[in-house]
Amino acid sequence: MSSPLAFRPSRHSTRPVKVSFEFFPPKSAEMEASLWSSIERLAPLRPNFVSVTYGAGGSTRERTHNTVARIVEDTSLKPAAHLTCVAATRGEVDEVVRSYWDAGVRHIVALRGDPIAGPGTRYEAHPGGYEQTCDLVAGIRRVGDFEVSVSAYPEKHPEAASLDADIDALKAKVDCGATRAITQFFFDNDHYLRFVDRVRARGIDVPIVPGILPVQNFKQAASFAARTGASVPDWLAARFEGLETDIETRKLIAAAVAAEQVLDLVDRGVNEFHFYTMNRADLVFAICHLLGLRAQPTSEPAQVAA
Ligand code: FAD
Repeated sequence: MSSPLAFRPSRHSTRPVKVSFEFFPPKSAEMEASLWSSIERLAPLRPNFVSVTYGAGGSTRERTHNTVARIVEDTSLKPAAHLTCVAATRGEVDEVVRSYWDAGVRHIVALRGDPIAGPGTRYEAHPGGYEQTCDLVAGIRRVGDFEVSVSAYPEKHPEAASLDADIDALKAKVDCGATRAITQFFFDNDHYLRFVDRVRARGIDVPIVPGILPVQNFKQAASFAARTGASVPDWLAARFEGLETDIETRKLIAAAVAAEQVLDLVDRGVNEFHFYTMNRADLVFAICHLLGLRAQPTSEPAQVAA
C-alpha cells in the first residue's frame, strides 16, 4: 500500500516526467544576471537538457555560443544550441557546428529560421547556405554524432500550404537524422494530441515533445502567438481579462492555467515537456514541482517523488 504522503503528479500516471528548459542569450549585464539566477534555480531539477536560442537573422551567434559554452564549463547541465540556416553559408554554419563540438556540446536544435525581413515575408535561402532544415540536419550529422532536435507545429507553420505538407517536412527532417521534435507552443491540448496522432500515422516515431509557454504576460504571449500561427482560445483571454495592472493575481492565474495544461497532458499520457522559460524561473519551477520533480542537490537525475 502506498504511504499517505505518496505524491502523484497525475490522477492516472506514475510515470517519471522529463523536462527541458529553453533560454535566450542575454543582451546586457542585467539580463545575464537574471538568466544565470534562473539557470541556478532550475538546474537542481535535473532537466534532460537546457537549450539556448539563436537570434533572428543569426544575430546572436556569439552570445548563443558564449552562453552554451558557459553552461558546459560552469554547470553539469547538458546544453543544446539552437542554430538556423539564415544569413550564413554552409561552410560558416559547419564552422559554428564544429566549434560546438570542440566546446563539448553534443546537442543542436536545428532550424531553418525566419526570413531576414521578419515572419510573414518570403523566405529566401542564403546563396551557398543550407536551403531547408533537413539539409542543415544532414550537415550537422556530417560534422559529428550530435543529437539533433527540430521544430514541429501542431497548428501548422504559417508558411506551410497544409498541415500534411508540414508533417512531410517534419518527416524529411527526421529522415535526415533528427532525433526529437519540440513543438511550437499551443494552448489547446487537443491540437497537440491530434497532431501527434497524424505524425505517428505518417510513420514518424521520434519523440514529439510539447513546447509549453507558461503565460507570464498575456499580451506578450498573444503577440507571440499571432506571429507563430498558434491560436489563442477565448477562454484563455477571458482568464486574464481585467488583470493588466494586477500583477499578483496574474501570477496566480498564470500558475493555475499552466498547471491545468500540463496535468491534463500527463493524464493523457504525456511525460516529457519543453518549457519556454523566457529566462524566468519561478513559474516554471512551480509547474515542475506540480509535475513531481524535486530539486536534487547531488548528481543523481531528478526523480518524481514516490
Ligand atoms: P521548418 O520546419 O524547416 O519549416 C519551415 C517551412 O518550410 C514550413 O512551412 C515547412 O512546411 C516548409 N518546409 C520545410 N522543409 C521543407 C522541404 N524539405 N520542402 C518544402 N517545404 C519545406 N527561430 C530562430 O530564429 N531562432 C531560434 O532559436 C528558434 N528556436 C525555435 C525553437 C522551436 C522549438 C520552434 C518551434 C521554433 C523556433 N524558432 C527559432 C522559429 C523558427 O525559426 C521559425 O518558425 C521559422 O519560420 C521556421 O523554421 P523551422 O526550422 O521551424 O521550420
